[in-house]
Amino acid sequence: MNGKTVMTCIDAAHASLKEHADEIASLDQAIGDGDHIINLLRGMDALVAMRAQIEAEAFAPALKLAATKVLSTVGGSSGPLFFSMLTGMAKAAPPDADDDGVPGFARAFAAGVDAVGQRGKTGTGSKTMMDVLIPVAQRFSALAEAGASRDDVLAELPRVAEEAMLATRDMLATKGRASFLGERSRGHIDPGARSSQLMIAAVCACLAHDAA
Ligand code: ADP
Ligand code: MG
Repeated sequence: MNGKTVMTCIDAAHASLKEHADEIASLDQAIGDGDHIINLLRGMDALVAMRAQIEAEAFAPALKLAATKVLSTVGGSSGPLFFSMLTGMAKAAPPDADDDGVPGFARAFAAGVDAVGQRGKTGTGSKTMMDVLIPVAQRFSALAEAGASRDDVLAELPRVAEEAMLATRDMLATKGRASFLGERSRGHIDPGARSSQLMIAAVCACLAHDAA
């Protein structure tokens, strides 16, 4: 894992967000202010524009570089939250850039999710991206502890993310803009849960493909 891998993952996440842009826009129009996908794509475009810099770095510095760009370009609630995810992961990333073992990355992902929780001051059940990130981090850690292979992890995490994303539909929003709607927030998937799930699925597919 290095800056090139980070950029490959960014490209995969970017492609998936672009493909689902209209759907994410509709979700945020239903329970937010409609800007979530615009915010994210602005950040993705900025990351793509700094491809050479990111690719030249080792894994953790590449994540930190991307995080700083995300903070200054994404905006909204999700910009600082994705910044926290990336810096949290970078701080806990395996020190050896060549170590792409499951346990190290499970720890890094969990640290990223913890950082999002501290920034956004929420856990599961408030109908946010955390309803996807936390179950994925938990399953990732459990798989790592059970000695699961990289292939098994990359196949399993997208399933966990999808189930968790779908479960936000019936939740009552108690954090962020959607919470202003009260009961009317029910019946819509959270846009941040959907974008996070899509990015997780795209990154897992791309890493699985890379290893093949
Ligand atoms: P804004 O709500 O400021 O317009 P965005 O549209 O970019 O920001 O992002 C909205 C998404 O941010 C929501 O769908 C939700 O998943 C996520 N979100 C909002 N508040 C929080 C929070 N406190 N913790 C975690 N995620 C949150
Ligand atoms: Mg919004």
